[in-house]
Formats: sequence, C-alpha cells, structure tokens
Amino acid sequence: MSTPAMPKIKKNYILAPGPTPVPPEVSAAGAWPMIHHRTPQFRAIIKEVAEGLKYLFVTQNPVYFTACSGTGVMEAAVANLMSPGETMIVVEGGKFGERWSEIGKAYGLNVVPLKVEYGQVASPVQIEEILQKNPQAKGVFTQLSETSTGCVFDIEAIGKVVSKTNALFVVDGISGVGAEPCYPDKWGVDCLLTGSQKGVMLPPGLGFISVSQKAWDSIEKAKSPRYYFDLRAYKKALAQEDSPYTPAISLVFQLREALNIIRKETIEGVWARHGWLAEGTRAAIKALNLELFAQRPGNILTAVKVPAGVDGEKLVQIMRDDLGVTIAGGQGEKMKGKVLRIAHLGYQDRFDVTTAIAALEVALKRQGFSLKLGTGVAAAEEILWKDPQS
Ligand SMILES: *Cc1c(COP(=O)(O)O)cnc(C)c1O
Repeated sequence: MSTPAMPKIKKNYILAPGPTPVPPEVSAAGAWPMIHHRTPQFRAIIKEVAEGLKYLFVTQNPVYFTACSGTGVMEAAVANLMSPGETMIVVEGGKFGERWSEIGKAYGLNVVPLKVEYGQVASPVQIEEILQKNPQAKGVFTQLSETSTGCVFDIEAIGKVVSKTNALFVVDGISGVGAEPCYPDKWGVDCLLTGSQKGVMLPPGLGFISVSQKAWDSIEKAKSPRYYFDLRAYKKALAQEDSPYTPAISLVFQLREALNIIRKETIEGVWARHGWLAEGTRAAIKALNLELFAQRPGNILTAVKVPAGVDGEKLVQIMRDDLGVTIAGGQGEKMKGKVLRIAHLGYQDRFDVTTAIAALEVALKRQGFSLKLGTGVAAAEEILWKDPQS
C-alpha cells in the first residue's frame, strides 16, 4: 500500500468583516415554517426582538428594523435627518466615510468632508475646528469602526464635542455594534445604525437604526424625499408591535435567536471577547514581524500592512482558495493589495482566530516570506489562553 495522500477534506472558515459566521441555532431558526406577520404570534416576536435590540444597542430609544443591507439604513439616516441644501460634516477616514458623502450628495446636501488619512482617526479637536468653521452644520456623520482601515473612532470624545452644538451626531455602527463598546445615550449619539451580517451574527438582509429625541424633531421636519425608509412609519408601527411593510420574517426569527445568544453572553461579555481576540491577533502579527495598519485598532478586525515582496491579493486568494480561510484584502483602489484584514467579528472564538493565523503563516511561507511556522499562533495562544480558568 502506498502512503496515503494528505487529507482531502477541507473546511471553510470565514474571518471577513461581513458576512460573518452564523451560529447553528440561528441558521436553524431561518428554516422555521412561515407565519403571517399581522398575527399575535408574530407581534410577540416583534416585542421580544425590539427589547433585545435595545439591549444590543445599549439604548433606551426604540431600534427600528427594516429589510436592507447596512447601506440602506445609512441612506435612511440621511433621508430622515437632513433636508436638501443643509450642511453635513463627514469624517472621511476610509471607504465607509466616503459612502456617507456619496449618500449626502445624492440627497442634495452640502457635504463638508473632514479628510483623515486612511489608517488614522479624527481627533475631537479636528471635529471642534470643523464645527466652528461650519456653524450651520446640521449633522456630523462618522463610523464607530471604519471597517476599511480597521480603525475604531473615539465616539465618546467626539460626542462630547458635537453635543455642545445644534448638530446631530450620526454613527455608522455597521461593523462596530456588538463588537466595540458603545453607549449611544451617554455619549450623545443621535443616530446609531447597523446591519445584520456583522456583529449581529445573522445572514445579510436586515438593517437596524435608532434615533434620539433630538433627532426626532429633525425627522418630522426633514424635506428629503423618502418613502420605504420613512422612519415615521416605522415608529408608528413598532409602537403597536408591528412593521409598516412585510418584514423579512425568517430573518426576524433568526434575529430572536441571535439576540438570545448575545443576552446570554451579556453585551459586555461580547465586547470583551472581541477585545481578547483582537489582542491575540495583534500579538501574532507582531511576532511574525508584520506591521499593524491602524493607528487605533479596534476589536472588529486587525488590519495588517502587506510586507514587501508579498503579493497581498494573491495571499488572500491562497488563504481562501487553497487553505479554506476567508479574510479580506484592501478595499478600494487606494488599499488594494496593501493591507490584509483579519476579522474577529461576530460568532468567533479563540480557535477560529488561531486557525486564521495558522493559515496566514502557511500562505506567507508559500509566498517566500521568511518565518517559522507556529510563531504567530504561539504568540496568540499566550494571550488567548492566559486565564487558566477559561
Ligand atoms: C459593511 C459596512 C457597511 C456597508 O454595509 P452593507 O451591509 O454592505 O450595505 C457600511 N459601513 C461599515 C462601517 C461597514 O462595515
């Protein structure tokens, strides 16, 4: 008998910053038989998820849900809070900051960008200055986590500055909610939103948005065109445990499961787990003599500079197609091939992270990068298994 070949079974792991893995009980809930949405049975589910979403967002304000990807609720924020010709300050520190500007322009707003170099964050002082120069500004739009660069913004500090003015503070938490600490009510956030396929551990297809009382005054008066995303309809419906249009019923079943998982772990526990995974990943990167990209790296993902002599896009391709581990490369023309983004977002545990690091080592080695296999994994394990009780 000849030597058996190397194993042919290959599992797939997804460590991309969305979509993220879906827990098995959440997947199973998506297969439940359809029920009608205008029924006491479904109203009970809406009631439960409405409470769970407030827990997830850490807010006393209602959180509305609608069928769309994250960008849909970004558009909803602009359409509901702003009127044509009004000034919108946008922190443009990456691809998603730029998306705010694009939406603002589509709605005829006067977009004033605060341009931040990719990988850097906006300081509260910069926000203060731009608000002083633009006292007419109606809103400041930013990200909790700029997923394209791996930076987490200091929402608490920026919120302190914005709340001294009349401007609304709007935060895209699409990768941040359910991963990065955020207290919108305490921090003066007037609008916080996210999508389903990141920290919420669901398949893509739901958007979530909450607004403050201060924001409601603007919503009532805003002159932008809106229909499907008119938050007034969602407010009226949710008050009666209802939804204005046919909801994505299966996703709402799944949402209930996901929110139960989050409650069991506690939101602080969820944030802490992401913090550990991020710390372990950063330790691995350093041990491999690689460099971090983000000035203020968040819990969501670790962005790594592609080292000289390595083809960044090819590396991501080797990891995905040959090794079965999906991470993300650089997003957009500026970043393509320049960074690797290893997400530890959503339904991830320590072994998911060490698997990704192991795959990264193998792929780097195949690209001729000099390293000793296991170096990164060992460094990560030292952090991830530090607590003997865990
Ligand atoms: C993923 C992401 C988006 C876009 O969300 P879609 O669901 O793809 O529309 C916007 N902002 C941030 C910060 C993101 O991470």
